[in-house]
Amino acid sequence: MAQRHPEAEARLLKKWICMRCSATHRGSKPKSCRKCGYTGLRKKAAEKRSV
Ligand SMILES: [Zn+2]
Repeated sequence: MAQRHPEAEARLLKKWICMRCSATHRGSKPKSCRKCGYTGLRKKAAEKRSV
């Protein structure tokens, strides 16, 4: 990819991943996982990608 995609990156940064079942949640941080109810959610790491 020659250009960076701010929109795509913003989307990635708005993703939350359940640390128990790895379900993804888009948008703002949910209170708990919609699949298993676990509250341990981490942000998707989008900045550590080496190009
Ligand atoms: Zn879960």
